[in-house]
Amino acid sequence: MKRDLSTSVQYIKSVGPKRAQAFSKIGIINVEDLLHYFPTKHLDRTTILNSAKVAQHVMNGYEGEVTIIGKVVESELIRYGKKKIFKVKMKDNAGFFECVWFQGIKFFKDIFSTNDIYAVSAKPVMTRYGNLQLIHPDFDKISAIESEEFLNTGKIIPFYRISKELKSTNLGDISLRKIITTVVEEYADLISETLPQDIIVKNNLIPKNTAIKDYHFPVDNNSLEKAKQRFKYEELFFLECLIALKKVRMKIKKDGIKFNIHPEPIKSFIKNLPFQLTQAQLKVLSEIRKDMESNEPMNRLLQGDVGSGKTIVALIAMLIAVSNGYQAVLMAPTEILADQHFKNIHSLLESTDFKIALLLGGQTNKTRKTILNGIAENKINIIVGTHALLEENVEIPHMGFVVIDEQHRFGVAQRSKLIEKVISPDVLIMTATPIPRTVSMTVYGDLDVSVINEMPKNRKKITTVIRSENNLPEIFSFIKERVKNGEQAFIVYPLVEESEKIDLKDVTSEFEIIKNTYLDDTRVNLIHGRMNWQEKETIMEDFSKNKFDVLFSTTVIEVGIDIPNATIIVINEAFRFGLSQLHQLRGRVGRSDKQSFCILVTRDELIRKTKRKNFSLEYLSPAEIERYKSQIRLNAMVEHNDGFKLSEIDFKLRGPGNIFGIEQSGFPQLKHADIINDTDILIAAKNDAFNIILNDPNLSSSENQIIKRQLKKNYYTSLKFSHIA
Ligand code: ADP
Ligand code: MG
Repeated sequence: MKRDLSTSVQYIKSVGPKRAQAFSKIGIINVEDLLHYFPTKHLDRTTILNSAKVAQHVMNGYEGEVTIIGKVVESELIRYGKKKIFKVKMKDNAGFFECVWFQGIKFFKDIFSTNDIYAVSAKPVMTRYGNLQLIHPDFDKISAIESEEFLNTGKIIPFYRISKELKSTNLGDISLRKIITTVVEEYADLISETLPQDIIVKNNLIPKNTAIKDYHFPVDNNSLEKAKQRFKYEELFFLECLIALKKVRMKIKKDGIKFNIHPEPIKSFIKNLPFQLTQAQLKVLSEIRKDMESNEPMNRLLQGDVGSGKTIVALIAMLIAVSNGYQAVLMAPTEILADQHFKNIHSLLESTDFKIALLLGGQTNKTRKTILNGIAENKINIIVGTHALLEENVEIPHMGFVVIDEQHRFGVAQRSKLIEKVISPDVLIMTATPIPRTVSMTVYGDLDVSVINEMPKNRKKITTVIRSENNLPEIFSFIKERVKNGEQAFIVYPLVEESEKIDLKDVTSEFEIIKNTYLDDTRVNLIHGRMNWQEKETIMEDFSKNKFDVLFSTTVIEVGIDIPNATIIVINEAFRFGLSQLHQLRGRVGRSDKQSFCILVTRDELIRKTKRKNFSLEYLSPAEIERYKSQIRLNAMVEHNDGFKLSEIDFKLRGPGNIFGIEQSGFPQLKHADIINDTDILIAAKNDAFNIILNDPNLSSSENQIIKRQLKKNYYTSLKFSHIA
């Protein structure tokens, strides 16, 4: 048969039509696809020991994980009264050992047959009877030949994810490895190079076809590392090319607006503020000012932790725009946040002639029409709203400045939709979700970045504690005490209503119970996302005017809400929330000079575990991290107030594949690289990519054709945002 990468996998030895069908379900159609189906792990030689060595290590107090390769001797199901244990006796060339399972027995009991060979990994223990035992080990099946080769020649064995469909065609670890071996041997050398030669030389990369071979069947750890390195670089290089293209496109778009800075009204506005701007706020303002004065369109990201005072900076910039006769727009992700911004700006602008309007989805047709007319006739200078601003019939003819608050809540597509409504306004994007530098380089690589890295001076560190549900009575008395001093509190729940599916507290029932018991002499109220706009508005307005003391709520108050007089936030079922969400919620308090408190309430049994263990990430294995994630999150909240530190921990917990922001950025997901840990590769790839694109924005030179082809082939959807498509 002709050797061709587009050969259907069906024709590969021991595949056939049935398995080809199953392969197609996971996107593998031809030989080329299969060559790119990489192992999820390799048997790690460095942790493999024989059973006698392991026993010796355990006696000497060793506590780490080990891997032993052994043959199944027998397996048995043992009953102790009601309890069952499944035990597999195994042997290797140095002796016997046991694997045991206490759970999921039904599943494991059919897997192990006599004489099967497995690599099993776990923390080893010695039993009372002096037997070496692995409890609930990970296990991978290998063939007798593979085990021989592995032990004698040091060949490294790969393991692949086997989907349900593939399993149902009787494909297992060993048979899949055989198929991939055949394909790699016969076809890998047909893979052509995808990176320019000088990039390969400069970064000391191995050729693509070698990388594919070595990724599947490396001769040693070093060649596996080199293979992975090559794919990481390539992935990051093309990602950075996309980002560079996007940035270039913004710049070569039409001219932006050149705003004049009239210093006087702005200066006096700043002077009349009830507080002094921080150094960081002033620095960011001057960066924004420079952008506004230039005629290139501004695309700036303003990053600052919760409560650092981003709004006032944005507002001052908006004032510059409107005093130049342009309209300014502020878009927020929730109605209550948009309304808060509206009311704040409204009161700040009382002494001026500027008109401001609020545009939401839930408004009556009549209100909406009046507002839309005002905007169209340029009678309204500042427009605050939600994504309702993006609707087709919203025309903002003189839009010169756009602020997007809490941008991580919007998709990229939405962002560009608003911006593309008119000419080329200056755009300020704000986010409190702090992300490590390498991540912002990627997710926001096309934007200029300003950072507010300082809190207003009067702030005290929020005290954060973990409490059990059993402590709720004390928590309510604590709230009552604070309320007597005139302070206010949020009590947050994960659900609006009782749910059949999940057993979590809901705000509606808890509100009913607590207002009639613990807080029967306190002024309380309730807010959640199912209420209509009018109800929500009244409640937030009353709360901000201190007409009641305690607000029961869902996470509708999560972002942006600013009630400086609130000093306590109680977060129920706290283990359910993600770290950045917890940090955002906590940011609802600590917005004045008063001492604030964040009380994370979780279930009693989780608390006991949380207290017991040392949760420093450095000391935990990936498996442990998986098991203890929610406790690590809660402990991190207690330990750290700094959003950057928390986001670093959050990234470690989420793992490289799930980097927050990348999904929304419209860029492709990373399969090989890990943005947090592959910093050096990322920086190299970024420099190379930006150099190439800035010198040849249309990728028209002959040596760059290889890049253009590759981008068009693999990143077609992401190219939508560039001029290359
Ligand atoms: P965020 O950055 O989370 O959006 P906000 O802009 O809502 O924060 O500001 C938080 C609170 O701090 C607001 O009540 C705001 O009025 C106040 N604030 C902003 N800047 C300062 C400052 N320089 N000094 C004191 N308070 C400030
Ligand atoms: Mg804000």
